[in-house]
Amino acid sequence: MADSVDWAAAGVDITKPALARVYDYMLGGSLNFPADRAVGERLAKVGPFREMARLNRNFLRRAVRFCVEAGVRQFLDLGSGIPSSGNVHEVAQELDWSCRVVYVDNDPIAVAHSEILLADNPRATILRADLRDAAAVVAHPVTRSLLDFDHPVALFLLGVVQYIPDSADPAGLISSYADAVVPGSLLAMTHFTSQNMEDEMAAAVEYFAETASPITLRSAEQITGLLGGLEPVAPGVVLTAKWRPELGGPPAADPERSGHYAVVARKP
Ligand code: SAM
Repeated sequence: MADSVDWAAAGVDITKPALARVYDYMLGGSLNFPADRAVGERLAKVGPFREMARLNRNFLRRAVRFCVEAGVRQFLDLGSGIPSSGNVHEVAQELDWSCRVVYVDNDPIAVAHSEILLADNPRATILRADLRDAAAVVAHPVTRSLLDFDHPVALFLLGVVQYIPDSADPAGLISSYADAVVPGSLLAMTHFTSQNMEDEMAAAVEYFAETASPITLRSAEQITGLLGGLEPVAPGVVLTAKWRPELGGPPAADPERSGHYAVVARKP
């Protein structure tokens, strides 16, 4: 489907791989180009990166369920990616039709396809923005059109914080978002880890270092440190497949090799 659209005319350079489209490819989606697929194939050769993407997506579903069961009905999904099946609004609105979702991404293709997918959904929308500018994202009229910051909001940062280097102050960024939401709000986050996957992640770090999106790996302790005053709910920072598997979804073939840490934290 992606290849049939004149993206060059829309100013999108499809000869360079883009994170959103590589991730779409790893999830089996069709909104990707040869340059994205080449990266995906290279990653798939060095480790179980397809399975990692799948486990990350399964965590997303469980985290949405957790938030809805905790009474939160508003979602701000930062770095939301290409809307493939089982996205936040699908899971949330299936549990409670009144849930409202604002997606944020800076990839033009992810945004264009989100716009098409969400055209008939009055309670979900997409904002094209750089998530690193928290003040602009929170204040934007698109965000405000659906989210009421006087009530709890679930912030999602899945598979994206590893692309924010320490020099860009990810802890400060998260605390800017946390400051914008009321107590009872939740943050769901996943983050690359080399736990049980040292060689594979070393190869991935080396590869991404040559791209526009170098990776910073962080330990569970460092990830907890990014949460500031937010309090992790049980079981804390754990491999994605080990975060509340009882909330549903297919079991992981090898939970020890999830490749991402996952956490949900609450604003007290
Ligand atoms: N969160 C989705 C998930 O877990 O299924 C997608 C994860 S994908 C690996 C990372 C996404 O973050 C991509 O769609 C990419 O375009 C987006 N992204 C990366 N840096 C960003 C930034 N500074 N602002 C907005 N989006 C960003």
